[in-house]
Amino acid sequence: MTAHQASGQHLHEYRTMFRIPRVVKDFASFFSEAGFQCFLVGGAVRDMLLGRKLQDFDIATDALPEDVIGVFHRVIPTGIKHGTVTVLFKGIRFEVTTFRIDQDYSDGRRPDSVVFTPSIEEDLKRRDFTINAIAYDLHNHRLLDPLDGRKDLKAGIIRAIGDPRERFREDGLRTIRACRFAAQFCFEIEEDTFAGISRSIDTVKMVSAERIRDELIRLLEANTPSVGFGLLDGSGLLRLIIPELTACQNVEQGDLHRYDVYHHLLYACDAAPRDNLAVRLAALFHDLGKPETLRTGPGGGEVSFHRHEQLSAELAEKILRRLRFSTHIIKQVGHLVAQHMFHYEPQWTDAAVRRFVSRIGEQNIADILSLRRADQLAIVGKRFVSDSLIALEKRIENVLAGDRALTLKELAINGNDIIRELQIPRGPRVGIILNHLLESVLDDPKQNEREILLRIAKNFYESRVSDTR
Ligand code: ATP
Ligand code: MG
Repeated sequence: MTAHQASGQHLHEYRTMFRIPRVVKDFASFFSEAGFQCFLVGGAVRDMLLGRKLQDFDIATDALPEDVIGVFHRVIPTGIKHGTVTVLFKGIRFEVTTFRIDQDYSDGRRPDSVVFTPSIEEDLKRRDFTINAIAYDLHNHRLLDPLDGRKDLKAGIIRAIGDPRERFREDGLRTIRACRFAAQFCFEIEEDTFAGISRSIDTVKMVSAERIRDELIRLLEANTPSVGFGLLDGSGLLRLIIPELTACQNVEQGDLHRYDVYHHLLYACDAAPRDNLAVRLAALFHDLGKPETLRTGPGGGEVSFHRHEQLSAELAEKILRRLRFSTHIIKQVGHLVAQHMFHYEPQWTDAAVRRFVSRIGEQNIADILSLRRADQLAIVGKRFVSDSLIALEKRIENVLAGDRALTLKELAINGNDIIRELQIPRGPRVGIILNHLLESVLDDPKQNEREILLRIAKNFYESRVSDTR
């Protein structure tokens, strides 16, 4: 059998597996009508061959950005210098890039200039890994795989295209991408490729925090992010990106715990729900303050980490700021980490449960319980949820279903009522009174009635607040 016949056989095998979505076919027909080539490339082809859900569509074409702008109505010039535009077509985003060859990379992150080429094969060669360099010709319905990406896909291997060291020097982000893909697909990084990463970690210093953040987010969406963190650690990258994590290595934490702090954090992250970025990050960072707060008891056996949650929250927020995460995520993760050390006891009164919900915030309750579940699982290393957590969940449910006011907004009176009825000016004292009312209502929800609250407010004001400024 000739090589050509052999690839024809593959073609058949893969064509039956390939189901190109209708919208992609429709999209491609605009290119053929205008006389341009059109290939599906990158993640979509790889994920289709793996039978995974498709994320986004990267298209390679010989059309220039201005040609693409001429063909479609809604085009965003996302990276026009590099030949990329985003086309919005029937509600789907297509990243369309003109076939290109990258010129020198002097700064380790972006090519100095790009040169367009009429050849898809040339374009595939400049890509990062063989599994990302398979193209599907949308006009002629055939796969192009000049770098043997399918072989590596089948074998589960991440392999750099060309000389790994050179490729990682061109763009340091590729080192992190290799670890991310390995975690995402449970693949192995080929030996020379991995050696290339270890020898090129310095180029990561030149990569923007935003690009690193985006790869970390994808890594955190993997089934078991610990695989990726293990590779980042083994290559020396982790010490560079998140040294706060490697500082937890070999910090032992007493009898109850099976793992050192570092492994406990990684496994907690694995155990957190993969579709909840905030909880995964909180799990990954929740004990970062332990190395610094570690105290050993007089006998040398007992260890304690007094108030480590506070320091952990500060460190988590610092890391997330450095990596340019959104303010929303930073606040949410910081709050979850700072609050992760609650200890429920059956003796808690309903008032204590309401205070807990009020402090955590009703919208964060599901997250803090997820975090605790992940935390517990990563202590003993097997599926385990303590009875006390189940009991707490039940009690929270009851409290939320009953008479309730857990926030200032839910009180039967507001700041204006206080100003009017107590005849006091606007200012911080109004807030002090409202918080006092919330405390009273958390104790006894029956007090959440206008007349009762006004009476409590008056008493409190006269006895405790009136002479303060
Ligand atoms: P995902 O499923 O995360 O979208 P992807 O492989 O599609 O994975 P993208 O970042 O969308 O990743 O990039 C699309 C394609 O562009 C890649 O498959 C790869 O061929 C190429 N590519 C992306 N980033 C790089 C890079 N830093 N260096 C070389 N080629 C890259
Ligand atoms: Mg993609």
